[in-house]
Amino acid sequence: MKLLSVVVPCYNEEENVRDFYDELFKNAAFFHEKEIEVELIYIDDGSGDGTVQEVRKLREQDTRVHLVSFSRNFGKEAAIYAGLKKAQGELVVLMDADLQDPPALLPEMYSYIEQGYDSVATRRVTRKGEPPVRSFFARMFYRIMNRISRTEIVDGARDYRLMTRQVVDAILSMSEYNRFTKGIFGWVGYETKWLEYENVERRKGETKFSFWKLFVYSLEGITAFSTVPLTIAAVLGALFCVFAFALIIFTIVRTLIFGDPTSGWPSLVCIIMLVSGVQLFCLGIVGQYLSKMYMEVKRRPIYLVKEDF
Ligand code: UDP
Ligand code: MG
Repeated sequence: MKLLSVVVPCYNEEENVRDFYDELFKNAAFFHEKEIEVELIYIDDGSGDGTVQEVRKLREQDTRVHLVSFSRNFGKEAAIYAGLKKAQGELVVLMDADLQDPPALLPEMYSYIEQGYDSVATRRVTRKGEPPVRSFFARMFYRIMNRISRTEIVDGARDYRLMTRQVVDAILSMSEYNRFTKGIFGWVGYETKWLEYENVERRKGETKFSFWKLFVYSLEGITAFSTVPLTIAAVLGALFCVFAFALIIFTIVRTLIFGDPTSGWPSLVCIIMLVSGVQLFCLGIVGQYLSKMYMEVKRRPIYLVKEDF
């Protein structure tokens, strides 16, 4: 028998816990045929609703159900890390609780593992049902990100992924505090098969990611997987130095030839404003990295557990 660990991060998903369980075990025949044993691990990310009670109810009926519950909301990235740590299986799959990652894809994903792939990832080819503004910014983010980072980050990639033990251990070895899982998947490498599917809308409840939360998350992704913004600061500085140097020579020559009429006050003010703006902007970039480093050197735990079975 092979053990498959199914890791499901949940934040206020009481209405989805049971639906997910039912949907997953519709694959029972497939699990049986391939001699796969399943452990289902719900990670409760500090939900304020009945998520934990729902999981406990399931556990009473089925001991394959497990729970790690956090002391508060630590974010999906922390939940994923906790789930991978808890997972015992030689195969591990990550899925959202809202059934946007259809468990019906599992047999196909598994067939690629049998063919020798180390991980099978999914991406949605459409963003049907998503607000257009959100799609636009998401596309922009992926375009910029892939230009400034050496790690490949695939547009539309979901966290729905089936991995071998080797890949899971590689991910766990990255114990950084600022976790950007989409980047981590790309960074660890290994042979990955990409499956594509049409976007499925959330079964019940509301999305847990506001636009603002996604924006902050995208900045996290950039600082975690690229140092290009720091280079931008340096390049801007160098350009301005060259420009200033040329201007100095021009001014000296002009004064020597035409004398020294006192003019150019407004332009001086404009230049000072522009240059100090650029300076503050660059300082801000440095600050971003500094703040990430600050959080990193504190070595705080990524999550705290309240309950674990
Ligand atoms: N989630 C979580 N912690 C959070 C936010 C979300 O564990 O702080 C979980 C959530 O319960 C769901 C998954 O992450 O299972 C994806 O969230 P959601 O469906 O809200 O995101 P979307 O699909 O809209 O991007
Ligand atoms: Mg969702």
